[in-house]
Amino acid sequence: MAEQVAIEEGLFTWPSDDPRLLGSQCQDCGAIIFPMQSGCPRCASDDTKPKELGTRGKLWTWTIQGYPPKSPPYAGDVENFEPFGVGYVEIHDEVKVETRLTTADKDILKIGMEMELKFIPAYTDDDGNEVMTFAFSPVDE
Ligand SMILES: [Zn+2]
Repeated sequence: MAEQVAIEEGLFTWPSDDPRLLGSQCQDCGAIIFPMQSGCPRCASDDTKPKELGTRGKLWTWTIQGYPPKSPPYAGDVENFEPFGVGYVEIHDEVKVETRLTTADKDILKIGMEMELKFIPAYTDDDGNEVMTFAFSPVDE
């Protein structure tokens, strides 16, 4: 029986009723970091605590990944590769997150547009499980 599994432990709180990305916040300077780190890149403090990030942000920049990425090794089906959007979303008042986008349509994606967090299947692993990752999707307005 195929299951859905998270792409990486500790990256987000999915599965849950209100899944969030998991970052960390420096207790000395307040910097928010994603993914979670034990040290602060801004002030070098090692006093950080896990922080659940907001689910909305603005598209800061984006591009279309038009071929299977070489690094990290692309885990999906290379022969049936479909281009996907990637970009940075600036979560409101928190942090910029490098993320996959749910659309690769350049007529839809616009810098500064409102985006929201989704969880989508990234690929199917060797056991037939759907490997889930996070992505940001344009908000319907
Ligand atoms: Zn800091």
